[in-house]
Amino acid sequence: MTGVAVHLNGLRRTFGTVHALDNLDLSIEAGELICLLGPSGCGKTTALRVLAGLEDADDGRVLVGGKDVTALPANKRDMGMVFQAYSLFPHLTALDNVEFGLKLRGRRRKPGRAAEMLELVGLSKFTARYPHQMSGGQQQRVALARALAIEPAVLLLDEPLSALDAKVRVQLRDEIKRIQSSVGTTTLFVTHDQEEALAVADRVGVMRAGKLEQLASPSDVYQRPASAFVADFVGVSNRLPGAVSASGDSITVLGTSLPLVSPAPAGPATALVRPEAVSVTPAEDGAGRVLTCSFLGPTSRVTVTVGETLVVAQVASGLVPALTPGTAVDVTLAPVPVALDL
Ligand code: ATP
Repeated sequence: MTGVAVHLNGLRRTFGTVHALDNLDLSIEAGELICLLGPSGCGKTTALRVLAGLEDADDGRVLVGGKDVTALPANKRDMGMVFQAYSLFPHLTALDNVEFGLKLRGRRRKPGRAAEMLELVGLSKFTARYPHQMSGGQQQRVALARALAIEPAVLLLDEPLSALDAKVRVQLRDEIKRIQSSVGTTTLFVTHDQEEALAVADRVGVMRAGKLEQLASPSDVYQRPASAFVADFVGVSNRLPGAVSASGDSITVLGTSLPLVSPAPAGPATALVRPEAVSVTPAEDGAGRVLTCSFLGPTSRVTVTVGETLVVAQVASGLVPALTPGTAVDVTLAPVPVALDL
């Protein structure tokens, strides 16, 4: 299977006064997995539904493999879909559910295709099970097998893991990544869970109010957020006062010069600094004082005051015994690029 490129060009969709899609442009490369990430109501599902043909755009075009499919109904668009609800037929076995997907699409049935797909998703021993005899995670695997069995041009996943418990969610997202890259189907994955998006995507599209705020690799979205909105939505940030240098490419915060992800005018500004970029070391003459320390497992969250400024640090839990409230500490920042809160 080889993937096809997808282009969403200038999509607009309003519901009453709400701009669910506000001139959205998004290109997905052949075989790529893009996650649309964003807060509730930012338009992720609407974008997916317009690509699927389940929703009409007011304006704009949808191109799949170079072909304009904007006017085509959903059943002519050659897309495999997996939704949050498992949506399997309760009276059919896993194998029959996948077979039925093939029949629905009128696909010539390659012998063994459905069984092959169930093997791909790790369910070869469950072919005869009915949905009620399977866990939520197993049912979602069947739904994925059914979506891929038709060899779709594009795979659409709309919050496919949100109904599952945390452990299964992590296992299945890793599986989805493995399977998607082995079959090479171009994929759009919608989620509001930032960790999920960072873990599975080739590129993450962070949406805000019907537009893409940033489209970049997971590490860039996290380490080089294009805006304060992205820095805040993806991960946690300290808001620390500082001064932007005369050259406009760095900011001095708590005595450390940090590079800026994008240039800014010289003068006072607020930097968004990740807790894991903050180090806290006990020091008798340190300028910081530990306020609280919460144990989170492998790491702990320490809050420190430095003068008027409150700083949150994420530290290895091994350091916790030395960081009781009131301890004097040095607070240092790793010189990683930061965004400004404008
Ligand atoms: P969530 O994560 O909560 O599903 P989302 O980012 O997927 O959110 P959409 O479902 O795309 O958001 O909705 C975008 C906006 O459009 C929201 O304000 C929503 O209320 C509105 N909307 C979506 N579908 C309809 C509809 N059929 N009728 C009216 N308003 C709608």
